[in-house]
Amino acid sequence: RDLPADAERGPRLREVRAALYSEVAPTAVSQPRLIAHSREMVEILGFSEDQVESQQFADVFGGNALFDGMRPFASNYGGHQFGHWAGQLGDGRAISLGEVITAAGQRWELQLKGAGPTPYSRSADGRAVLRSSIREFLCSEAMHHLGVPTTRALSLVATGESVIRDMFYDGRPEAETGAVVCRVAPSFIRFGHFELPASRGESDVLEQLIDFTIRRDFPHLQGDRETVRGDWFGEVCARTATMIAHWMRVGFVHGVMNTDNMSILGLTVDYGPYGWIDNVDPDWTPNTTDRQNRRYRFGQQPNVAHWNLACLAQALSSTFPSIEPLQAGLNRYAEVYMAADRANIAAKLGFAECRDEDVALMQSLVEWMAAAEVDMTLFFRALSDLGETRPTPQHFAAAFYDDVKRDASTADLGAWLERYANRLASDPQPAALRRQNMRAANPRYVLRNWLAQQAIDKANQGDESEIHELLDVMRRPYDDQPGRDRFAQRRPDWARNRAGCSMLSCSS
Ligand code: AMP
Ligand code: MG
Ligand code: MG
Repeated sequence: RDLPADAERGPRLREVRAALYSEVAPTAVSQPRLIAHSREMVEILGFSEDQVESQQFADVFGGNALFDGMRPFASNYGGHQFGHWAGQLGDGRAISLGEVITAAGQRWELQLKGAGPTPYSRSADGRAVLRSSIREFLCSEAMHHLGVPTTRALSLVATGESVIRDMFYDGRPEAETGAVVCRVAPSFIRFGHFELPASRGESDVLEQLIDFTIRRDFPHLQGDRETVRGDWFGEVCARTATMIAHWMRVGFVHGVMNTDNMSILGLTVDYGPYGWIDNVDPDWTPNTTDRQNRRYRFGQQPNVAHWNLACLAQALSSTFPSIEPLQAGLNRYAEVYMAADRANIAAKLGFAECRDEDVALMQSLVEWMAAAEVDMTLFFRALSDLGETRPTPQHFAAAFYDDVKRDASTADLGAWLERYANRLASDPQPAALRRQNMRAANPRYVLRNWLAQQAIDKANQGDESEIHELLDVMRRPYDDQPGRDRFAQRRPDWARNRAGCSMLSCSS
């Protein structure tokens, strides 16, 4: 623990050595107002709807008050950013309020994002703007309902204060509405938490953190210390593989897979310039600051996660008597990812199992989709709904972005569908079961970038209804929801090259 900050002068920006966190209180805001909350999280945490509607709730989750027992802190971590060691980073604008143990015995940490400066804020203000807070709030919950491991979001609170950002990096900063999201997870420990003490040779701190993490977050691991640590790293690798396979299944691109944004629990964490695949493009990244190298492009995510795990292994290596368990963990990543990828292929295409030739079948489909500029979500959902009808290219008409490319690629689609129909003929599942399984793997609704942007545009004009509507749609992403077709459309032309839709900056 770092020494508490000077209450008079606020947190002092500093290098925090030999400590994993610093006590720091949120900075009060002028007018905290609850914009939205997650019904499910409210229920899990045991709040009543009356409590949620009280001003006290907005006060606590906007950073103006604390419930009894809360002891806020910001944690200290480092990270590899875009492939380079960046040294100390830490929670520059996130402040944890404490942990809750629910009646069901689950443990959840509550953390405000955008609650004011901490010792780790460096040159920044510790705040977050409404647009990125809406994106984090909605996407956390949407991912959860899609079945993707993720941190959750309890609340979205407007601060009543403005925040200055240069969204377009054009040297003309503008005032934007400020907001605070309360995010919730069993743990917010990141790979970077281990990397920082390792980089400084703080072996006591590193040892304590490893023991603490295993005891608190991996209590099921038992045995002698060496075995437990090896099993632990293996489990981190397996969980990370599972998370990435889900991202690839639903078309999620994180955008900033730095090691400080990698959760030790294999949860998706830190929703910044993330995006969703519209037309299939393995090279696409939503992050404008990554447009040159495309390090974090969609198709690269499985490799980057492996690279990040290797950084973690490196950080842990001094605490292992040999590197074998670490090497075994990294191998496990590859095995688990490969198995999950094959399970995705079977589920998305509707096969009882993935045969070797199915990998090639999927590969040629993806290549065709990329060339033909086809919407990922619409195509797979249409494929799921084929039923017993013999597939024809017309069935997929709504998924194309470009008429010329559509016409040029129709013959290839026909040929692929022929192969697919032949393969289906040897699949043992009854059609109804297949359809059911495919619909559970191929969502109808995802939080397309332009959908979130519409909610943001409306909110900035004072109409917050679209936030609630989107949150509600994303609660049942695999169900057909009558009257909600507008949430299951391909990206409109206006959104193609618009900031917030296909181009996201780190300015948030
Ligand atoms: P990110 O790229 O969002 O993962 O952030 C990287 C680092 O920058 C983390 O240490 C954040 O806490 C910090 N950071 C980002 N935005 C702000 C901000 N507005 N104020 C303080 N720290 C920030
Ligand atoms: Mg500007
Ligand atoms: Mg981060």
